[in-house]
Amino acid sequence: MTHEVRLLGTGNAFLPKQRLHSFMILDGIHIVDAPPTALTSLRIAGISPAEIETIFVTHLHGDHVFGLPFLLLERKYISDRERLKPLTVVGAKGVRERFQTLCQLAFPGSLDDALDSIEFIESDHGTTNDNWNWERFEVHHDDAVDPHGYRFEHSDGASLVHSGDSGPCDNLENAISRSQIAVVEMGFPQWVPSDHHHKPNDIQSLAERNPDTQLLITHTFIDSEKSSGEPILTNEFPIHPGNVHHLEDGDAWIHENSAWNPEN
Ligand SMILES: [Zn+2]
Ligand SMILES: [Zn+2]
Repeated sequence: MTHEVRLLGTGNAFLPKQRLHSFMILDGIHIVDAPPTALTSLRIAGISPAEIETIFVTHLHGDHVFGLPFLLLERKYISDRERLKPLTVVGAKGVRERFQTLCQLAFPGSLDDALDSIEFIESDHGTTNDNWNWERFEVHHDDAVDPHGYRFEHSDGASLVHSGDSGPCDNLENAISRSQIAVVEMGFPQWVPSDHHHKPNDIQSLAERNPDTQLLITHTFIDSEKSSGEPILTNEFPIHPGNVHHLEDGDAWIHENSAWNPEN
């Protein structure tokens, strides 16, 4: 059995050049978060919103969840008009109320039935229909948005972590140390005086402490390598250890024969 982790977006909240908001899809049916550019990302990738079975919510910042009303609206009126496709939302306690508020603000009344048909799971671990065991853990970010990361382990042994938005913290490091790959955010340049996101030096030390885990960098502040002209902040990538991989929108890693490797 093969697995696929694809980053449909790799930018932080400020949308560096040629990047959409950080957005991961696992095996083509489970997404992590629903950023404002989620529908754009899915259109570019040719993935119908109706194919999505699960949304794993890391936290409630706008760059991670404000795309939800558009996904629900699209499913209701275009790709799942017959309402045949069940949707599960996995998130911390209170996620249902927050999503109701968000959808009521975006499209008053129009998404009530769509919300009613979602199965919300607020426990901190579970198993998907396709045998991914997942666990949610607290991370270090703004406590007002209930920040979490996820660890996934398939019954065939494949494992991965998604950091959500987080600065360095023990829970995240513990999950990474037990996993083959980790999708890790690098939201801040070195000079920002806050520890709510990873900075290049944090990624450096994290990679050195966990040499057996491949770190796939997303939610980055650095313009795409495909960009040109004056950078937004910078277009220069730090020199990192060999187990650090700065991803571009659309990049995928494939799990086959017990190992993850980049597509192609
Ligand atoms: Zn973010
Ligand atoms: Zn955040």
